[in-house]
Amino acid sequence: MDNTSSIERKKTRQILVGDVPVGGNSPITVQSMTTTKTSNVDATLQQIYSLAAAGADIVRCTCNDYEAAEGLAQIVPRSPVPIVADVHNQYKMALAAIASGVDCLRLNPGNIRKPAHIKAVAEAAGEKSVPIRIGVNGGSLHPELYEKHGGKVTPEAMVESALTELSYFDEVGFEQVKISVKASNVSLMVEAYRQLSMATDYPLHLGVTEAGPPPTGLIKSTAGIASLLLEGIGDTIRYSLTADPVQEAKAGRQLLEALGLRERKNIDLIACPSCGRAEIDVYAVASQAQTAFENKQIPLQIAVMGCVVNGPGEARDADLGIAAGNKRGHLFVKGQNVAVVKEDEMVETLVQWAEFITENGFEAALARADMEKAQKEAEKDRKKLLAIQGEDANEDGSRVNLIREI
Ligand code: SF4
Repeated sequence: MDNTSSIERKKTRQILVGDVPVGGNSPITVQSMTTTKTSNVDATLQQIYSLAAAGADIVRCTCNDYEAAEGLAQIVPRSPVPIVADVHNQYKMALAAIASGVDCLRLNPGNIRKPAHIKAVAEAAGEKSVPIRIGVNGGSLHPELYEKHGGKVTPEAMVESALTELSYFDEVGFEQVKISVKASNVSLMVEAYRQLSMATDYPLHLGVTEAGPPPTGLIKSTAGIASLLLEGIGDTIRYSLTADPVQEAKAGRQLLEALGLRERKNIDLIACPSCGRAEIDVYAVASQAQTAFENKQIPLQIAVMGCVVNGPGEARDADLGIAAGNKRGHLFVKGQNVAVVKEDEMVETLVQWAEFITENGFEAALARADMEKAQKEAEKDRKKLLAIQGEDANEDGSRVNLIREI
């Protein structure tokens, strides 16, 4: 299924984080952050591999002390994706991170405040061609800006913080910059990014900070990030969840795929909401299917439908689907019935056909099917169900009649 987006992206400059381009016409990237101690090299590398497998293009690790910087020196050459060092309070940590060989730095202007220190870091980064993210955070805004903007965090104050920091980099001719203006308040964050996007053409890193645990954290992050992406704003994204970071990477990847901003790598599982016609426990089968496909890279839209009466029609645009009826599963590919299986083999059959299609293509899948027989069997079960349930299984017709009688 074609999931290409028609979103017109705002033109930004392009920088390179390791070998991953960010900004310009490059694909929007997914980022996440490790939760291990960076000095624990093996544990951190293990998490980086899990994050990369879940869809992260770039991973950030904290560089909060010299042990962490030394850990980075061992992690970077063994990492499957570029590594960003997160530096907060000490500019010397930024210098140590650059020396460790990281692919990018993240600096918080609210915490590293002396222009001389910022310039020293920019110079060292420039020498090694290490890009820097200016990471403004609503919660740690410079006190002077906070006061200047009426004692509160406003989009204007956050943008001013980013632009002031940017001017220090400009002074030393350092242009390998990307910027974020994150806040935990979704509206504030969205407005800050909108204003920033008008004020600069540096690539933007999107995120709702401290979004919290799922599902609330997922909802807040999606609300903020997706709103901006739909406006064409944003070059790289991170979900900040209070959860296993693998969930962040998966969510980021899934959002980009759902918006058609990245090629589909994983399945898009759709399922009917179930109703009076359902022949199976749709929730249970859909959840079994979700688990069965979880670690498979299958770029298809797959439907689990509760009944053969309406399922194949309602999901005719899916690449592959299955609908229940008369204790059997009716499999369909691109809206055409291709096979009938026992009800308890529905998920297993979906997986087999999905793997076959991914490997051999749709034509080969349709060619091996006895479509005439599958269509006949589906029609038989459809009629049987209609005979048992009637045309009005959801009583919508009777409700309409009641309305008309009022
Ligand atoms: S009509 Fe069938 S496919 Fe549609 S919601 Fe009901 S059970 Fe699901």
